[in-house]
Amino acid sequence: MPFITSATATSETYDVIVVGSGAGGGQTAYTLTMDGARVLMLEAGRKYDPVSETPMFQTPDLAPLRGKGTSDKPFGFYDATIDGGWQVPGEPYVQTRADDAGRFDWWRARMLGGRTNHWGRISLRNGPYDFKPCSRDGLGFDWPISYEDMAPYYDKVEMLIGVYGANNGLENTPDSPDGCLLPPPKPRVSDLLVEQRAGKLGIPVIPGHRAVLTQQLDWKTSPAKLHPGNETAQKIIAEDMQRRAACFWATPCGRGCSIRANYQSTTVHLPPALATGKLDIVTDAMVHEVTLGKDGRATGVGFVDRTTGKHQHVSARVVVLAASACETVRILLNSKSAQFPHGLANSSGNVGKYIMDTVGSSLDGQVPLLEDMPPHNEDAAGGLQMYVPWWLYQHAGELGFARGYHIEFGGGKSMPGLGTAEGLEWLTGGSYGKKFKQDARRYYGSFVGFDGRGEMIPNEHSYCEIDPKVKDKWGIPVLRFHWKWSEHETRQAAHMQKTFAGIIEAMGGRVNGKAETDGAKAIAPGGSIIHEVGGAIMGADSKTSVTDRWCQTWDVRNLFLTDGAPFASNADKNPTLTIMANAWRVADRILERMRQKEL
Ligand SMILES: Cc1cc2nc3c(=O)[nH]c(=O)nc-3n(C[C@H](O)[C@H](O)[C@H](O)COP(=O)(O)OP(=O)(O)OC[C@H]3O[C@@H](n4cnc5c(N)ncnc54)[C@H](O)[C@@H]3O)c2cc1C
Ligand code: SF4
Repeated sequence: MPFITSATATSETYDVIVVGSGAGGGQTAYTLTMDGARVLMLEAGRKYDPVSETPMFQTPDLAPLRGKGTSDKPFGFYDATIDGGWQVPGEPYVQTRADDAGRFDWWRARMLGGRTNHWGRISLRNGPYDFKPCSRDGLGFDWPISYEDMAPYYDKVEMLIGVYGANNGLENTPDSPDGCLLPPPKPRVSDLLVEQRAGKLGIPVIPGHRAVLTQQLDWKTSPAKLHPGNETAQKIIAEDMQRRAACFWATPCGRGCSIRANYQSTTVHLPPALATGKLDIVTDAMVHEVTLGKDGRATGVGFVDRTTGKHQHVSARVVVLAASACETVRILLNSKSAQFPHGLANSSGNVGKYIMDTVGSSLDGQVPLLEDMPPHNEDAAGGLQMYVPWWLYQHAGELGFARGYHIEFGGGKSMPGLGTAEGLEWLTGGSYGKKFKQDARRYYGSFVGFDGRGEMIPNEHSYCEIDPKVKDKWGIPVLRFHWKWSEHETRQAAHMQKTFAGIIEAMGGRVNGKAETDGAKAIAPGGSIIHEVGGAIMGADSKTSVTDRWCQTWDVRNLFLTDGAPFASNADKNPTLTIMANAWRVADRILERMRQKEL
């Protein structure tokens, strides 16, 4: 009986409670249950079955406003997000500033699988420099672990979830061992043009890494590498891998994937974990505190059953929080006791401190060479095909900002929708009737868009705390966010703009608008890239960090964090692959300590 009610959960005994079912929670529950631990997963959102609910094949004409984004559904009507977004009804948060430069926007998903149902699936490994940034330039913090500690877990996650990509041997852009990556898809013509022209500027363009199956997973070889010596787990995952189909390149991944060709926690982590018989899931369970025993150990968690409004408590030997970085912080800060009056595991005073997002800036252009292209095969991944890894490591210290960024770009002819032919006036001067139709055909597929994704250095002005007045509809105090970019980030955003304009011009194209030279205007608001991490950083010293190298809180030894909260830095690489690799690493540690009866 894997999906259970809150009332049933209270009467059961568990080894581990996992809060949250997204990338971090899904991976944690997978690793623990495949090794025999009995796990209760508590998820605030509703039950969600992508196989039957995903609107994969619906065409724009079947949706209100032809599927166009609205404030409720910013990524379009068919986006897989349910009960989530920048605002969640009944669950407010407080922003101390409203302007773009000082605002932090918080995206949440309230559904089984969290944001993994609709994320971009870009899955890049952090490199060796990314774990020791402070040692290189004196800014921010080093992680208490190195690339070598994480590498075996990157290997496993890539093999399990399925990531396409290639090895290019570039600086701080790690290669994967044989057998980890799937072959990348064929690039589109616009990708090839970017590759050719950016190459002339000395900017490398290489295959992107995304969690999408370009072919069936290696179910004969990988299971033994994923679960050595564990025949039951090998059998379960071998069977499950055969049930996942390869991508047929026809539908937008952001709607989710009913054939299980891309990674979602709901299609990749949870089915095998449930097949072990060791996982129980309670959905609509809004956790608000971790409870503490007299011995200083976590006893379990308190939650509100969102379907009844009833307060419940469940217990286990170990508690893992993976509710997404800021929500994990919120739970810790709301868990007050005589021993921890300022929030659980907060003796350092650092819970809520050093939240980070990714530096983002965008520019697009139109390329005459791509106009009026004859019909050709435009099949492509519904997302990143190729990308530019950061290429100026050898120029650190000369650019006016620390660290670097990678460039995600796209073009080509995706399915036309409302908006495909909008905003052409800057090219046509305005046209109507027959001429407008001709223009729409001429320009369709001739645009390229560039998005920079850069590293933010943690700073003491970017943090969250509990607002003293505001509560959500369950009576749970909410977060209040403070945000500030430093000049490292704003200068990086200005550099992105200059680079994008240079590439567009090298393609013989025209920039739409102008490249922004003022970095403070070029940078996207905090949180808007939806890569928030930090808030409970790991470190080697209990006075300055919240967890140790195992993401085990210094203060409460049976409490672990396996989302982005313990990240000590936020490399330019998108965070989710690292969240999963780290969650597997931490879950292995929990299993080992439980076997040794130390937990
Ligand atoms: C549109 C979009 C595109 C993205 N693209 C990329 C990308 O290409 N690459 C990349 O690396 N990252 C990307 N991300 C970010 C990525 O989705 C997150 O990094 C990742 O999902 C974080 O995993 P998580 O487990 O910490 O949180 P989530 O996936 O958000 O899961 C957290 C879960 O915990 C539940 N929860 C929250 N609070 C509670 C509570 N109090 N009690 C119980 N349950 C709770 C939530 O309902 C949710 O289901 C993208 C995000 C979005 C929205
Ligand atoms: S493009 Fe491929 S992976 Fe993405 S939703 Fe469609 S079939 Fe699934």
